[in-house]
Amino acid sequence: MNAKCILCERVDELDNREFKTKQLRNKPIRMYLCPECEHRIAINTISRVNSGHFNFHKPAVISNSELKKLIDTNTK
Ligand SMILES: [Zn+2]
Repeated sequence: MNAKCILCERVDELDNREFKTKQLRNKPIRMYLCPECEHRIAINTISRVNSGHFNFHKPAVISNSELKKLIDTNTK
């Protein structure tokens, strides 16, 4: 399976046996990041955390039906 990185638009050949590939195939909404972009983002995030101007927000918990509604309204 091929996946395009959402940041640099590089197309990668993914290993079909990997769990990540399976997840991506089953849920096309999930975005793919190539390892380089993932690494770059990780470094930026760590430096931001270390700068002290970064607050962790608890992820909002929404039910599956609410999520479905949200997706439906966004795709229309
Ligand atoms: Zn990339």
